[in-house]
Amino acid sequence: MSSRPSFTCPECSHTSHHPADVEHGYCGRCRRYTRAEAAAARALAGLQAARKHADTFKEWPGETGR
Ligand SMILES: [Zn+2]
Repeated sequence: MSSRPSFTCPECSHTSHHPADVEHGYCGRCRRYTRAEAAAARALAGLQAARKHADTFKEWPGETGR
């Protein structure tokens, strides 16, 4: 039915079934909150991608030419 909750570290692929590790995304091997770090890195990458996208739009002729 429902699988036991687990947290797999995105850094070292270490999997923990400790409830506190699962809840906080803490890796006992890295000794860091690697899930939060990965989420922050993804958010940053998304932000940079969005900025790049916005720059692309700026270069469009748009509808201001008339
Ligand atoms: Zn780790």
